[in-house]
Amino acid sequence: MRELLRKNIANLVPYSCARNDFVGEAEVYLDANENWRDFVGDQGRNRYPDPLCTQVRKALDEVLGLPFAHTVIGNGSDEIIDNLFRCFCNPGVDKVIIMSPTYGAYRVFADINDVLVEQIPLTSDFAIDFDALEGFLGQEKKRREGGKEDGRSKLLFICSPNNPTGNAFPLEEIERVCTLFEGITVVDEAYYDFSSLGSAVTLLPRFPRLVVLRTLSKCWSLANARVGIAVASEAICKVLTSMKYPYNVGGPSQELALKGLAQADKVQQVRSLTLGEKSRMEEALASLSCVVKIFRSDANFLLVRVGNADELYHYLAQKGIIVRNRSRELYCENCLRITIGSKSENDRLLAALAAYEEA
Ligand code: PMP
Repeated sequence: MRELLRKNIANLVPYSCARNDFVGEAEVYLDANENWRDFVGDQGRNRYPDPLCTQVRKALDEVLGLPFAHTVIGNGSDEIIDNLFRCFCNPGVDKVIIMSPTYGAYRVFADINDVLVEQIPLTSDFAIDFDALEGFLGQEKKRREGGKEDGRSKLLFICSPNNPTGNAFPLEEIERVCTLFEGITVVDEAYYDFSSLGSAVTLLPRFPRLVVLRTLSKCWSLANARVGIAVASEAICKVLTSMKYPYNVGGPSQELALKGLAQADKVQQVRSLTLGEKSRMEEALASLSCVVKIFRSDANFLLVRVGNADELYHYLAQKGIIVRNRSRELYCENCLRITIGSKSENDRLLAALAAYEEA
């Protein structure tokens, strides 16, 4: 892994917070230049939060089985994605591989970090194109060994279940990618909790260059708190911890995460309701003549091909209903991505679609 890191990160002397110097409980803290007074409710908001999110990571271990020593918490998983670029990719030199259509932020973070993107599109039915991947990796290796290229592909992103297509990839396929790719394979499992397929976390003991991303923003109903999780080897966790903003996750967010994780039963109930609504929506949408195709989804949204996505998107927006128009994405012509909402939200969408058909 060390040879994949940017040199400045491999040699980094991390910032040491005041709270890193003293471990234990004291009575008087005069070490971090905080204000002695908490004006907003005596909840310790005048104090810096735990930089290592210790309690949250313990709860993730207990509730989700994500091993404590193998987790790092980000300000949403978006922060971790950005930090992976900053750890591994030399700007203007290295590349990352994405499999389009997929989560748009990978490309945006690549652009921000001045990292080249190599697109290896999924097949038109949204499966991993192993022929194209093996072909590209073989060519790249040859060029590098022939001294024709300085940079290399450092990160490969697999989003499973994939956004915007909805399908999860079988674990054997993810394992095959991990075996083929000599860089860091990042499996983004933001929507994993809605799926019934296996998690790439189970592959970690065999693939030390694997990073799995989870989030509390989706199934755990805490998008507002901004809590994302990297699950990886201890070596990768150490690097991600050393280079992140010291206090990247606020105290209120850590507290919300703990509250949420203590209510796993409720989360399961809401998940079941969402999945029930997904089935109902699939059936109802399939009966509409404006719907051409509904793609298989392992997530809490449906990718739906319609007759005219632009027109329907604007029609729904006028009615105050916002869906995501994904028509410009590869193989997603005339596709809308529709999040499964509450029963009444879903009913409002169906009523608007019925009115659209009548108009
Ligand atoms: N990955 C995927 C696939 C997503 O769809 C999203 C959010 N839309 C994220 C990551 C970012 O999630 P977070 O709220 O944890 O930053």
